[in-house]
Amino acid sequence: MRIECKHVWEYISAYIDGDVDAELRAEIDRHLETCEICSAVLDSTRNVVILVADNRVFELPAGFSSRLHDRLEKELAASG
Ligand SMILES: [Zn+2]
Repeated sequence: MRIECKHVWEYISAYIDGDVDAELRAEIDRHLETCEICSAVLDSTRNVVILVADNRVFELPAGFSSRLHDRLEKELAASG
């Protein structure tokens, strides 16, 4: 199984929660080592989760994933 950026984004909240199986986690780890975009996404997604946790709301807001994807696509387009 070869992981691409879109797969990392799809699984990123489960990854942060430790809710992916070991094989998938290893693939994501390997991707993150070589992909600056996904490393940045992971950092910013962690920040969002922490902010949400600080407000004692433990579920990400509805639409979070699609908003994140929209932002990522813009950033990808901007970085050429
Ligand atoms: Zn990537």
